[in-house]
Amino acid sequence: MRKPKIVVLGAGYGGLMTVTRLQKMLGQDEADIVLVNKNDYHYETTWLHEASAGTMHHDRVRYDIDSVINRSKVEFICAEVQDVKTADKKVILNTGEIDYDYLVFALGGEPETFGIQGLKEYAFTISNVNTARQIREHIDYQFATYATETDKKEERLAIVVGGAGFTGIEFLGELTNRVPELCREYDIDYSKVRIYCVEAAPTVLPGFDPELVKYAVAQLEKKGVEFKIGTAIKEVTPEGIKAAKGEEELEEIKAGTVIWAAGVRGSSIIEKAEIENMRARVKVNPDLRAPGHDDIFVIGDSSLIINEEINRPYPPTAQIAMQQGEVCARNVVKLVKGSAEELESFKPDIKGTVCSLGDDDAIGVAFGKKMTGTKASFMKKMIDNRALFMIGGPALVLKKGKFNIF
Ligand code: FAD
Ligand code: NAD
Repeated sequence: MRKPKIVVLGAGYGGLMTVTRLQKMLGQDEADIVLVNKNDYHYETTWLHEASAGTMHHDRVRYDIDSVINRSKVEFICAEVQDVKTADKKVILNTGEIDYDYLVFALGGEPETFGIQGLKEYAFTISNVNTARQIREHIDYQFATYATETDKKEERLAIVVGGAGFTGIEFLGELTNRVPELCREYDIDYSKVRIYCVEAAPTVLPGFDPELVKYAVAQLEKKGVEFKIGTAIKEVTPEGIKAAKGEEELEEIKAGTVIWAAGVRGSSIIEKAEIENMRARVKVNPDLRAPGHDDIFVIGDSSLIINEEINRPYPPTAQIAMQQGEVCARNVVKLVKGSAEELESFKPDIKGTVCSLGDDDAIGVAFGKKMTGTKASFMKKMIDNRALFMIGGPALVLKKGKFNIF
């Protein structure tokens, strides 16, 4: 009898959780499992702010997919997904096409640009290993060029971070640790460097605990960050940004580097595939399947689930993507085995949120308790190590874990 074919798209948090669970739960004769990813490595998206600022080498944030999958059970295809033809049950890759019986869509998210002029051309985003490397190199280049030019352009040393959500704040924490090193390296006076954070909402980290937000702002201001709150970026130019507070006139900030960290949408492949979506995110059924597609599961940043308590979507996080991966794997196994049991409903179990402010500082709420400083930073590293453990067990923690905890 022909074995059912399960195709998992994306080797991020959601995809790898699904595959590592499927390979444990299914025998070789029960199903064919195929994993597709554009690189032969997985990267810890949650560490990309460190690689982007240059406080961690980009090789530290990634590991070989082969090191966590069982090749006797899982076929790995290193290719880029271009489309999904749902009616034909086919995935179109840059290298050919594959068919599926069950599809797990876990291609993550993409930066939300809101159609802002110049953003795609002149701003950087913290999205993957390549963009992280590019940001680090670009900032280095600006400092190196400033050191050599006769007619010194101080705006080269200005860095704008658009968005004071978790990504923007975590990046600023790393950046403010990296800039003094860069100044020493290139013999530049630190007072010449300007670091701006431009946030459209009336507060930094909208919706987060106000006391913790106050702590984070004070810590970052102490290290030289200038916050422009209630100010939306309207345009990015080759010279910097144009922003406005409410209806006020546009203000120009000249800057050699603009980092866009103002939110994510789902994968554009979802839109191409014509699966019902909102900003490329699929409001999945409780069992994580796409409405109207009993053979397609969508997890991670391309899925949308509602927090019934506040009637708003949960923010897309690695925490949720990994929990979805576990439930998705169990549900796929039920379908493959033709189990009479109902598919499991997904309910996020939010254990807390910790936002780093550099290597030795953080803010967070975990298990209902507020934390700041080294205690919160310790917790953040434990969370990072736990993610490694969940996918690759103790061997991966030993190889990639964060042990600089004190
Ligand atoms: P990802 O982990 O992004 O994986 C998607 C995978 O699909 C990648 O391997 C990618 O290469 C691959 N892919 C994409 N498109 C294609 C294609 N067309 N073809 C083939 N392969 C493709 N969340 C937390 O819970 N805690 C945190 O501390 C935290 N920190 C963060 C820090 C930063 C700097 C950022 C940017 C995000 C952070 N998040 C955090 C959010 C978290 O990283 C995401 O929610 C999470 O990565 C989503 O997981 P995913 O499996 O959906 O996608
Ligand atoms: P976000 O949506 O959480 O924050 C984006 C911020 O950008 C918002 O505060 C928004 O008001 C602001 N913004 C939007 N348009 C703007 C404009 N034109 N000008 C200026 N500011 C503008 O997005 P994020 O920080 O990229 O995070 C993405 C997801 O990843 C979230 O779900 C977040 O919870 C998660 N994440 C979690 C952690 C953590 O748990 N430590 C770290 C990073 C990211």
